[in-house]
Amino acid sequence: MRSTPLHPVARLPEEWSASLAARGERSFTAKQVFHWIHRRGVLDPAAMTNLPARLREHLAAEGLAEVLTPERIHRSEDGTRKLLLRLRDGATIETVLLPAVSGPGSQAQLDADAAAGEDDDEDDDEAGAAPRVRVTQCISTQVGCAMGCSFCASGVAGLKRHLGAEEIAGQVLLGRAMLEEGEELRNVVYMGMGEPLHNYEATARSLRLLTHPEGINLSTRRVTVSTSGLVPEIARLGADFGGQIALAISLHAADDATRSALMPINRKYPLDELLAALRAYPLPRRRRITVEYTLVAGQNDDPAEARRLAKLLRGLPVKINLIPMNPIEASSLGPPGQDRVAAFQEVLTQAGYSCFVRRRRGDDVSAACGQLVLLGAKPKVRRAVG
Ligand code: SAH
Ligand code: SF4
Repeated sequence: MRSTPLHPVARLPEEWSASLAARGERSFTAKQVFHWIHRRGVLDPAAMTNLPARLREHLAAEGLAEVLTPERIHRSEDGTRKLLLRLRDGATIETVLLPAVSGPGSQAQLDADAAAGEDDDEDDDEAGAAPRVRVTQCISTQVGCAMGCSFCASGVAGLKRHLGAEEIAGQVLLGRAMLEEGEELRNVVYMGMGEPLHNYEATARSLRLLTHPEGINLSTRRVTVSTSGLVPEIARLGADFGGQIALAISLHAADDATRSALMPINRKYPLDELLAALRAYPLPRRRRITVEYTLVAGQNDDPAEARRLAKLLRGLPVKINLIPMNPIEASSLGPPGQDRVAAFQEVLTQAGYSCFVRRRRGDDVSAACGQLVLLGAKPKVRRAVG
């Protein structure tokens, strides 16, 4: 049970119906309020012109205002925009907008599609429609992270707090409002700060908000939840959404000793349990699970580990993203050389897997997981706001 009342931005239409009916409002106002917030992205009750004045006042009194304040925007040469956002309690999180730099088939598009767990493009833009630049947004679910992965800035920072559903979905409301001419929000990936399944309730609610037909209406297959492998919650996500939400699993090793050294969560949920959970995920036909594999020099980049990985994943519908580790300040770990990455990929390709090397985008603005926030935490580079 929630101990704090649900923030207005976190409410689903049926919850608005219940609360507004109790106030004697007419039934269609619930849909109108939800439309304003989630379809139009308006959080200022004064601008909700088709609502009665008393209702607008009530919404204002409920604290329906900005849940996130953009504090800094870093733009990289490749068009990636990284937003540092301030929460009401002063904590900061980040979200990244990744536009595909050119049309379908470009490297950036492949990266975005691969990140989004997209298998094919059968429901592509309609013929004759103006070409749009597809944007993938990467969002955060916690301030920091409790999982403690050794190569990850969020993990090293530790968990400060969970985000509410309004703060998770709010990142997308904000990201959508910041789209530029000709851009279209196409995919949302839960790959920013935090472990989404460790904050299950808020993550699940945010998924309902983002995919609601009366709201942003993202297609479930274009929303990807990435997890370090919380076994019971993988089952819960599968059951709650009928397997429709795309799943990405951060594997990073194919044997327990190596994986536990990189990811402490593996001691709680070792590989056999994790693989069983992946096999049980009610994946729709023709869809695949994305396997993320961050290559860390000297840790998990041996071709023998690639062979073990090929064996481990046998029979699972997957595609594999290899991510050469982005160096972080708090650790001396780093990425292997290009030859080593290529050799690792070759083993998997030869074994019949579709396997991409995901180039980090926006490196010039520190687009790696957690890094901007750590940068922002240095007092000399940040101006305090709010
Ligand atoms: N907590 C979730 C989602 C957020 S992390 C998870 O771990 O899946 C998103 C992805 O970025 C994960 O695959 C994670 O392993 C990877 N990652 C984190 N730090 C990284 C780094 N320094 N270099 C490369 N990948 C990193
Ligand atoms: Fe948390 Fe994911 Fe980073 Fe691990 S990789 S510490 S689970 S955010």
